[in-house]
Amino acid sequence: MKAEYREEICDGCDQRFSIDDPLYEIKTDHQHLIIFRNRYFGRVLALDGVIQTTEADEFIYHEMMAHVPLLAHGRVHRVLIIGGGDGGLLREVLRHRDIRRVVQVEIDASVIDLCRRYLPNHSQGAFDDPRATVVIDDGMHFLEHTDERFDVILTDSTDPEGPAEVLFSRRYYAACQRCLAPGGILVTQNGVAFLQLDEVRVSAGHFNHLFRDWHFFGASVPTYVGGIMTFGWASDDPRPRQTDRKTLQERFTHSGIVTRYYTPQLHGAAFALPQYILDAIGKTSA
Ligand code: SAM
Repeated sequence: MKAEYREEICDGCDQRFSIDDPLYEIKTDHQHLIIFRNRYFGRVLALDGVIQTTEADEFIYHEMMAHVPLLAHGRVHRVLIIGGGDGGLLREVLRHRDIRRVVQVEIDASVIDLCRRYLPNHSQGAFDDPRATVVIDDGMHFLEHTDERFDVILTDSTDPEGPAEVLFSRRYYAACQRCLAPGGILVTQNGVAFLQLDEVRVSAGHFNHLFRDWHFFGASVPTYVGGIMTFGWASDDPRPRQTDRKTLQERFTHSGIVTRYYTPQLHGAAFALPQYILDAIGKTSA
């Protein structure tokens, strides 16, 4: 019988992948890690029973998490990534020519090491870029001790259990706010709203308490089943979120970046949320 990987999505519902080629499995100091090849999705990374990323659809998540805030801001030089050990987000951020420095803080060195080896299409050499600095640390600990300021902070974390639980707390969002340069933007991974609505609701409450401008935007990522994947957006400057389509198009064209999912049109549309999410976050519109 062929081996299968089963991810429990919610009580009474799961998704399954055939493991066509098992590549690596280990219990790291922080979590259970497995990388395998599936005939449709290519190489797949799962941590603690949760699918993190696949070669086939990772571009959707990583392009949206990187290009939406970077193009909305327009003059990003310094980026902080919390988590993101597979390197896909680092790859997309470094495609922006104006980037001078990216600090990536990942709690689990094994994720980076094993993804470089078994999932090289994600990072595509990004970890060797001289603009990138990798720090092995807890994101919360790093933020509370650094003196650096960043134009954009990206939380590319696992779900709010285990080591990532703290990355969804008010204490964490407040630490991010302290480390943002004037006009800076925080973007977070906030789960699949239909199934993890509380995650969105709780983050919305913290954003509302701390930031002048906040919202969520969405993207459909096939392997994050259950509907729209939501990204949190928080800033003390309301202007970047209102950047008009013409400006986004000019910046995008000027960047020379070729994407497979992101477009300036989609950028604006991604902030239009369905009513059930607006209800959960207590907003009537964007
Ligand atoms: N795109 C993925 C998703 O949404 O499922 C997340 C990808 S990335 C592999 C998530 C990373 O966050 C993991 O490598 C994990 O080790 C890291 N992580 C979890 N908690 C962390 C923390 N407190 N500080 C830094 N990194 C953390």
